[in-house]
Amino acid sequence: MVFPQSTTKINVGTPRSLDTIEEAIERDSHVIAVALRDEQAEKLTEKDFYEVGTLCRIKNPDRDGNTVQVSLEGLCRMRITGIEATKPCYFVSAEEIHETGGFEGENRAWARRVREQLDEFAHLRGSAVNSLKDAVDAATDVGQLADVLASSSELNRGMDIKERQGLLAEPNKLKRLERLASVIAGELEVEALGEKIKERVREQIDKNQREYYLREQLKAIYEELGENTQTDNDALRQKIEERQLPDEVKERLRRELARLERMPGVSAEATVVRTYLDLVLALPWTERTTDRLDLAVAQQVLDDEHDGLEQVKERVLDFLAVRKLRADKGTSRAMATILCFIGPPGVGKTSLGRSIARAMDRTFVRVSLGGVRDEAEVRGHRRTYVGAFPGRVVQAMKQAGAMNPVILLDEIDKMSNDFRGDPTAALLEVLDPEQNIAFTDHYLDLPYDLSDVLFITTGNYLGSIPRPLRDRMEIIELGGYTEEEKVEIAQHHLLPRQAEMHGLEPGFVEIAPAVMRQVVREYTREAGVRGLERAMGNLCRKAARYAVSGAAKMPKKLRITPEKLTEYLGHARYGSDMYVKESSIGVANGLAVTESGGELLPVEVATMPGHGHMTLTGHASEVMQESAKAAQSYARSRAVALKIDEDFQRNTDVHIHVGDMATPKDGPSAGVTMVTALVSALTKRPVRHDLAMTGEITLRGRVMAIGGLKEKVLAAHRAGIRTVIAPAENRRDATKIPKEILREMRMVWVSHMDEVIAEALIFAVPPSLPEADSTAIADRTDAALPLDVPPIARDVIIALDKL
Ligand code: ADP
Repeated sequence: MVFPQSTTKINVGTPRSLDTIEEAIERDSHVIAVALRDEQAEKLTEKDFYEVGTLCRIKNPDRDGNTVQVSLEGLCRMRITGIEATKPCYFVSAEEIHETGGFEGENRAWARRVREQLDEFAHLRGSAVNSLKDAVDAATDVGQLADVLASSSELNRGMDIKERQGLLAEPNKLKRLERLASVIAGELEVEALGEKIKERVREQIDKNQREYYLREQLKAIYEELGENTQTDNDALRQKIEERQLPDEVKERLRRELARLERMPGVSAEATVVRTYLDLVLALPWTERTTDRLDLAVAQQVLDDEHDGLEQVKERVLDFLAVRKLRADKGTSRAMATILCFIGPPGVGKTSLGRSIARAMDRTFVRVSLGGVRDEAEVRGHRRTYVGAFPGRVVQAMKQAGAMNPVILLDEIDKMSNDFRGDPTAALLEVLDPEQNIAFTDHYLDLPYDLSDVLFITTGNYLGSIPRPLRDRMEIIELGGYTEEEKVEIAQHHLLPRQAEMHGLEPGFVEIAPAVMRQVVREYTREAGVRGLERAMGNLCRKAARYAVSGAAKMPKKLRITPEKLTEYLGHARYGSDMYVKESSIGVANGLAVTESGGELLPVEVATMPGHGHMTLTGHASEVMQESAKAAQSYARSRAVALKIDEDFQRNTDVHIHVGDMATPKDGPSAGVTMVTALVSALTKRPVRHDLAMTGEITLRGRVMAIGGLKEKVLAAHRAGIRTVIAPAENRRDATKIPKEILREMRMVWVSHMDEVIAEALIFAVPPSLPEADSTAIADRTDAALPLDVPPIARDVIIALDKL
């Protein structure tokens, strides 16, 4: 389509067109260019032509073989009124269409608007539009402007032939321009959209490229560091597939690994997942060691590794026998009993556990529960917590590497509970055979079978183990050792073991029993043998030094003499009777059981004029306060008999101090000691220093049974005391005391406080007391002495008063 004001180059090739061009050139070089309604039409009739065309001048014809190239310069619009199809070309009759329209102002406004649009268009489209702009600038009239635009290839791309024909046929120039303005606006919109799309595509590409680039860099860094995560993941996958695992576990691992592979290798989350996978893979799921349940072997192992402890060993063997029977019947699961060793530190609880594991040929893991106060320490944290970790039981299983280890839960009595949940409840679940087949650790989050584990627990003091736990366990108590036993243990076990640990030949260090006893007596004071083991260690260190220093010819043995002992271990730390050197007023030796076994518990009482205040210091627990009150009541009820000022509660202040030591577990058993010290202070008669006492009292002075008699007697013996006053009700416990100790002791069994006073106080009249006074007291006492005072006490008091 050729518009007026434009020149269009065309190639002419069809015979009729060639003839037309030639005919026209011969005449006046004018043709009318008109579009066809249907370009594909074969046989053209009059109706196939549009009615409006353009009168053109033919310029620069250029023949090239069978085609001619010509330029058609549009001149004006023509309406065709008739067509004559003759040879060689179509002849038409036509009339010029005159342009109409537009006020001058309106035309100018529109022209300006269109020029602005074109500027914008040129800005977006670039150089292609610039030549169009030149033509536009040259146009002097709105109609011309419209025709320049209509013929531009930049714009007519957006119009089909019908639309363009519409523009050609429109005589009103303003209408044409309006129409074209909307076409340009459309083009602008398309252009802007195109920009937007381009921008978005570029952003996307940038982002992808950036990520790709960074990832590649990261990969390169990892490869440089030799940490290729991909190969790590592959190794993990291989491990998962190769391991024999329960289906559920394997499925979980696969899922976690898939998650891991979708994460960037260095993210914190990936580390969490990897740690989890490592843990699950490190845990035993099907691995088991073969049990040995041979009682003869077990006995052998226990005997080899532990001296004495006969009763304990018997009970352990009983326990193993039951296990064996059940295993033979195939009912090893749901084995309800759990051994619990109770006793002071260093008596061999842990090492017994280890021996049991060795006897059964199982792996051994020790889990310390001391200070555990958070349920999560037993059962683990959920993995959603930052820094979550599995509980101690699962950690122990990982360490054990088999489904059936011996796990020793140490210091079960030292657990406490607070707001973070009760660890006892979690532990109950661990120990309960009904539940521990599928124990759930929060971190692991997979049921784990603990039913093949042999749990052994230990503690120092039965009283602080929560009741529900205690009920689950078979309690085996280990008391302290006697001096003789300690000497044996040191000779047979501690010394050889320490010697080996210090690289010494067996038998190089030689300690005679008497010297060993000296070590026990003067360098340790304990129920167990930890300090003794340390002392052996110290000796071996010195011996090692001696062995390597040897410039002189080395003797085969190093014999430790008492002198060497002082040289190597320093001066004796404890005298054999270090407690109270002489009998004194207001001081009595009590006996108590603490977490570290029996101990001497001195109680001191001072009285002074005052208003009846009572002060309690030292280990003054609640129970001690009660004992102190009971002591006061007793003293008052016996005031007359004991010649104590009846008004002492009103005009005397009393200060009671309970000796410093590890916290005693049984407060009330200091009752008799307090009374004795108080009465001593009030009567100014000294207490015998070579005896110790224990017993609970009632308000009326009856002496009640106490616990831990064996430990207490051993402690007294250790301290060099040979007389012990104890409640008559405890007489039956005397069988638990080792015979050789009992033989050396004088036990005074009492059932009333009066008997204690009679035994413990020294009723010698103080030398400073004027004689006259003494007689006066005697007169009074004799009459007032109550009848229920036991005969000995009465006799003693009377006899003394007669003095
Ligand atoms: P606990 O667990 O009761 O605190 P340990 O088991 O740690 O005590 O014992 C401390 C040390 O004393 C260990 O080296 C242990 O082998 C040793 N020991 C304790 N009792 C005996 C004993 N009867 N025979 C041999 N060694 C013993």
